[in-house]
Amino acid sequence: MKGNFPIEKFAKKETPFYYYDTVLLRETLRIINSEAGKHNGFCVHYAIKANANPKILGIIAQSGLGADCVSGGEIHAAVMAGFPSDKIVYAGVGKSDWEIQLGLDLGIAAFNVESIPELDVINELAEKSNTMARVAFRINPNVGAHTHANITTGLAENKFGISMRDMEHVIEHADQLKNVKFIGLHFHIGSQILEMGDFQALCNRINELQNQLERHHIKVESINVGGGLGIDYQHPNRIPIPDFKAYFETYAKFLKLRPGQTCHFELGRAVVAQMGSLITKTLYVKQGDFKQFAIVDAGMTDLIRPALYQAYHKIENITSDEPKETYDVVGPICESSDVFVKAMDLNKAHRGDLMAIRSAGAYGEIMASQYNCRQLPKGYISEDFK
Ligand SMILES: *Cc1c(COP(=O)(O)O)cnc(C)c1O
Repeated sequence: MKGNFPIEKFAKKETPFYYYDTVLLRETLRIINSEAGKHNGFCVHYAIKANANPKILGIIAQSGLGADCVSGGEIHAAVMAGFPSDKIVYAGVGKSDWEIQLGLDLGIAAFNVESIPELDVINELAEKSNTMARVAFRINPNVGAHTHANITTGLAENKFGISMRDMEHVIEHADQLKNVKFIGLHFHIGSQILEMGDFQALCNRINELQNQLERHHIKVESINVGGGLGIDYQHPNRIPIPDFKAYFETYAKFLKLRPGQTCHFELGRAVVAQMGSLITKTLYVKQGDFKQFAIVDAGMTDLIRPALYQAYHKIENITSDEPKETYDVVGPICESSDVFVKAMDLNKAHRGDLMAIRSAGAYGEIMASQYNCRQLPKGYISEDFK
């Protein structure tokens, strides 16, 4: 055992693999439920796209969270894991007919609709199925977030959502359609957001929009504020659980919910990132001209975040206790961007040492690819090593 890792038992598994600490996951879920539970009408959904490992989904479904899906495949995964369909919401700019049909057949809680053509198709399919689709409109609030440009979603320039200008027109259009029922507004401004001020700005914008709708006597059942709460990639050991208390309190304080309204959250990263580590074996330690490389058997095909978003993941050598040296930790893929971290201080590395790439539970395993004809990494939960 080093840190929380059962390294003796790791030796029997082929690397690389994801390791999920379910003790931490359960504790995170307990805190989410207790902090959200302090506020009337708050409902939390888990954003399946962050990690859809069936065992992880099962634990999250058991905790009572709903699901936020962005594809038909995710709706299937949610149902298989035991999420009740009346707690499933479904967003996405490009929903295929079969995906809409699946949502209709299951009677999901809401389609988060992103355009009028999509609304018309949902209405048409609902009519054919002789059912009523519950729809919310994803509004682009033109609120920025202090995060990486590739993961902001709430600016006018982004492809997501309906512009505020068109909001009333869309709601009135829905009113004319027989097989859709307008239930609420949906927002999502981005990911890995650590400044509560960004969420406060979203609340202020939603308050303005609600005032505007009230003047037109339009009733809204539910407000969905999306997800986006970030985690501390620098300090996975010191801060393993994000500050859910401050997060929910920000919404409780600044969002003016109307009587009877529910407020929905769609958290992905904050639920699962810190419980996951990518475990990889050191293949070679190579001396370069000015630096040394630890070449490991995991690559950008297993965890693409560093290559795609210049994301930082803390790495630990969980085999060695020798004094630290400085390494670039790199993978075997034939791409210069296949670098996990540069100039990282690690306990002296040797061939065969296991490294833990931390905070990899979100947008890790699920984004893996087979580029270079590689196998997809496996995911194990802590119970698998008992
Ligand atoms: C990705 C996504 C989320 C989850 O984002 P996190 O940053 O992982 O919390 C929530 N809602 C929608 C619509 C999304 O696309």
